[in-house]
Amino acid sequence: MTRSQELYEQALELLPGGVNSPVRAMKAIGRDPIFVSRGEGAELFDVDGNSYVDWMLSWGPLIAGHAHPAVVEAVTAAAARGTGFGAPTEAEVEIAAAIADRVPGAEMVRMVNSGTEASMSAIRLARAATGRERLLKFAGAYHGHVDGLLADAGSGLATAGIPASPGVPVAQAAATTVVGWNDREAVERAVNEAEYAAILAEPYPANMGLVLPAEGFLAFLREQADRSGALLVFDEVISGFRVARGGAQEREGVTPDLTIMGKVIGGGVPAAAYAGSKELMNMVAPAGDVYQAGTLSGNPLATAAGLATLRLLEAAAYDRLTAVAEALASGLRDAAAQAGVPVEVACTTGLLTVFFGDGPVTSYADAKACNTDAHAAFCRALLERGVYLPPSQFETWFPSLAHSDAHVELTLAAAGEAFAEVAR
Ligand SMILES: *Cc1c(COP(=O)(O)O)cnc(C)c1O
Repeated sequence: MTRSQELYEQALELLPGGVNSPVRAMKAIGRDPIFVSRGEGAELFDVDGNSYVDWMLSWGPLIAGHAHPAVVEAVTAAAARGTGFGAPTEAEVEIAAAIADRVPGAEMVRMVNSGTEASMSAIRLARAATGRERLLKFAGAYHGHVDGLLADAGSGLATAGIPASPGVPVAQAAATTVVGWNDREAVERAVNEAEYAAILAEPYPANMGLVLPAEGFLAFLREQADRSGALLVFDEVISGFRVARGGAQEREGVTPDLTIMGKVIGGGVPAAAYAGSKELMNMVAPAGDVYQAGTLSGNPLATAAGLATLRLLEAAAYDRLTAVAEALASGLRDAAAQAGVPVEVACTTGLLTVFFGDGPVTSYADAKACNTDAHAAFCRALLERGVYLPPSQFETWFPSLAHSDAHVELTLAAAGEAFAEVAR
């Protein structure tokens, strides 16, 4: 028995499903989880001494790779000064300024500890600001495990085949309308039928695999929000600081009323945020009366890791994140074609998904129609060859600044063999 198997057996007695977050269990690809001992740059090492090129990278936060020296140094120095005070610090002002400088829709920022907490809080603010309760979200979009947002939520639910979760109050689920991504008619119809506090979208959805917005779709959402009095809320937990310095909103030129951030913003330490105009954010306590608080919010370790990571992300970084994703995408397309495996590779700066199917994937329905068995076989074959990707068809690979050309080549060589195995 391997050490990973031993730990998994023990973990099954102590943690539900043996893990602290569902997709890690690797059930969707029909194998047991891999217990990790450490990471370095783009490489991951397991407790049995195997190493992997890591395209999962903690599901997005590690845009600079594992244990980047600048991040480690910043966190170590912060820890030595004290891990938390529950009183304001200089670093919180610095990170808020760094965010406001980068993200067009962010004038004022509230730090929290997870993307889930950020979406929950942004929704409360949107409801308070509009005096409305209903929410409009998109099928396949994940906004954390917030009660009212678990319907058709992609990500881990899609991976496990769970349409929604037991334990969610009927009233919470009923206050959310779900429409198809890239479906203008459905949005227009929904907006004509009810009043929404928020139209909530991942501008570059990455939790049903990567499904980019159709030309003009984000601007259309902006118009629909404006004409109906709803707030436009972009969940940039994945796209923020990744697809461009100022996220998808900067890249697409569409500014939301509120922005939800996470992952990269904490550089691998728990941190998230929501942000918007001064007018809206000043409604949050103690400036206003929309209550939201957090014992560890803006804590020194998270702000240090986040700031150190943001400082690594200047213009040249995005050229590199684009180049790595594109090299990977074109190599994967060629390797699949050579093996005769039909795939659609979606890719943008710092994000990529290999969909196992022939058609273009423009919606959650298209993503769900993919051959998840073929994806699972591909994943298992890559793991055996030392390449670790997110073990689900409904997630994205995370090209990073730590991936070298050699990592890409090694991955493509392994992928060639893995596609051949899938074709058999
Ligand atoms: C990961 C994610 C979340 C949830 O963040 P957590 O920190 O896991 O709670 C929310 N929205 C999107 C788009 C995400 O990818």
